[in-house]
Amino acid sequence: MADTEQIPESIAELVPNFQVLKLPMITRFRGITEREIMLVEGPDGWAEFSPFTEYDAAESSRWLRAALDFAGLLPGAAEAGSSAVGHLADTSGRSAAAVRSVAVNATLPACATSEVESILARYGPVGTVKAKVAEHGIDSLPGDLERLREFRRLFPSTTLRLDANAGYTLPEALRACAEFAEFDLQYFEQPVAAVEDMARLREKLDGLPVVLAADESIRKAEDPLRVAELGAAEVVIVKVQPLGGIAAARSIIEACGLPAVVSSALESSVGLAAGAQLAATLPRTPASREILGEHPACGLGTGRLFAEDVVSADLSLSPVDGQIPVTRIVPDPQRLERLAVDPGRFDWWATRLEECWSALRPTLNSRS
Ligand SMILES: [Mg+2]
Repeated sequence: MADTEQIPESIAELVPNFQVLKLPMITRFRGITEREIMLVEGPDGWAEFSPFTEYDAAESSRWLRAALDFAGLLPGAAEAGSSAVGHLADTSGRSAAAVRSVAVNATLPACATSEVESILARYGPVGTVKAKVAEHGIDSLPGDLERLREFRRLFPSTTLRLDANAGYTLPEALRACAEFAEFDLQYFEQPVAAVEDMARLREKLDGLPVVLAADESIRKAEDPLRVAELGAAEVVIVKVQPLGGIAAARSIIEACGLPAVVSSALESSVGLAAGAQLAATLPRTPASREILGEHPACGLGTGRLFAEDVVSADLSLSPVDGQIPVTRIVPDPQRLERLAVDPGRFDWWATRLEECWSALRPTLNSRS
């Protein structure tokens, strides 16, 4: 890490220029129909800084760390060789440069049973599907079961994950797991909200063949370790920005020791590129192979949720046949202009950038 004097007081010295964009979404997701993002450019290329607007400066500062790292702008990071494609090699000797693409899962929303086939047909051939369940908690169970039976009838050998987005209470989750066990699941994401309840649920499963994965339980760097310590899940869902960047995420995943699946934070193709790079270089441990297989699909297919991206569709990281390329994205200048926010929102993000830098800077100092 760089000496203190190399870390500028003002973020303007590190990031003289940035873009703030508003990306319209196809449907309401996470309560929003437009996603605001900041893009910065550095020696390693473009990077995305896009904490959700309600996140405070302390939390968002980790997202800033990730963006600066991916752009090659994080003070001291250049010597560590932590971000450039090709510099990364994991314990099994693979490098991001050697992996050209990563698998992503298709998503089956809470839809009518009759729509299962047509919705999944739009994805083309995919090896892994994640089905959303518990949209209305336990009341959705009969419909969820009917939809999953139809899915298994159509796709008997496709890998299936479920995601309840913390939609159940503990007793409801236990009942749902007992019902879902017949569908040969790879894992079940976050049936209940509290990490302690995840741990209790895992105990109570008592031999049921349902592997739990923690998603909402992981929002910051300490969380994967807590999940592992409590025995709350066997798989962790990780996102690059909240964990502070690719190198930081890799360290956290190694420290927690659980198989990890990389997911997106609802990002443009610039942000997805960082996720793809992490996914391409994740360590493959025996536990990871056993639960996730040799080429685990990641949750980076969210480009489909946007009506606009920072590049044209053929250059974007929208999945084709269940894969996205591992590459850097250079935004299209015309799109940067067209998708720019109004001056008021630009100023809001400029202030936020400064506040996040004020929160991040001392943590860089303390490590030098
Ligand atoms: Mg999830």
